[in-house]
Amino acid sequence: MTSRRNFLKSSILSTSLLIPGVLKKGSELLSRRENSVNAYKPLIVSTWEHGLEANTRAWEVLHQTGSILDAVEEGVKVTEADPASRTVGLYGYPDREGIVTLDASIMKGNGECGSVCFLRQIKHPISLARRVMEKTPHVMLAGEGARQFAISEGFPLEEEVLHPESQREYEEWLKEAEYRPIINIENHDTIGMVGLDVNGNLAGSCTTSGLAFKMHGRVGDSPIIGAGLYVDNEVGAATATGVGETIIKISGSFLVVELMRQGRSPQEACEEAISRLIHKNQENIEEMQAGFIAINKDGEYGGYAVHPGFNFAVQHNGGNEMEDAKSRFTG
Ligand code: ASP
Repeated sequence: MTSRRNFLKSSILSTSLLIPGVLKKGSELLSRRENSVNAYKPLIVSTWEHGLEANTRAWEVLHQTGSILDAVEEGVKVTEADPASRTVGLYGYPDREGIVTLDASIMKGNGECGSVCFLRQIKHPISLARRVMEKTPHVMLAGEGARQFAISEGFPLEEEVLHPESQREYEEWLKEAEYRPIINIENHDTIGMVGLDVNGNLAGSCTTSGLAFKMHGRVGDSPIIGAGLYVDNEVGAATATGVGETIIKISGSFLVVELMRQGRSPQEACEEAISRLIHKNQENIEEMQAGFIAINKDGEYGGYAVHPGFNFAVQHNGGNEMEDAKSRFTG
């Protein structure tokens, strides 16, 4: 928690490697965006500080395989397997019944996508989401059906034992058993990753254990295509983190991509989507954190949140660094 607040200062803009000729836009658009024309190919952006390690792996895989889809899958697998993560993967916080249930989605720029939700016992839900995309006629599998599909695909079943830290927090929570989302405390820190390769192909991934101590059966935005993740090779890609209910209500990631389609930069699109989210979630917005990150097909990126505290990791040829997102509310 402390480290999450210990933000690294961004030096992305000053050390950026601007790839000439990437931006071929009208001069009007360029002047409107004069503060945000840095563009990178390839580019990988992911949410929160765990994004740094995930980006490193994604970058490696992109260079090994040339596949942006492989990169966004393998990148977030690092976080899914990390015993230190209380918000992604099987070491995450459980629901109110003490059971860890996982949500994940993956999407390619041509519209192919797959997701799993309310999934138990599977270490890498993102890989199962990819299998749904590649091996079934469906987009989403839930709960026991998803688990059965995993078994049929040869995924090993993990034992359902809470990580000691998750167990301790759960027992603490049980004393009051009250559910209140608390801004930026580690009860909601999904990893969402969006990536662009040198040829302009986009892909994205999103994986989470969802809100800590959620109702059993609750599914958030992360496995819902258009809410937690959306990718379109013609435009760009976006992913979300935060209280999923607020994001689902505005089809958040789809909205960000559509705003970019209409000419907004990734930064402008994230800001506009956050305005919409605040407008549609006015009740309790002071307790609800949500954030978006986005990239466009030219290799520009942006990020924005409701409240301060959200940050994201940006990887390009110039390095892999954290950047603090600006937010609508400031204190
Ligand atoms: N968006 C996720 C959910 O609502 C939580 C998170 O960002 O960690 O399930």
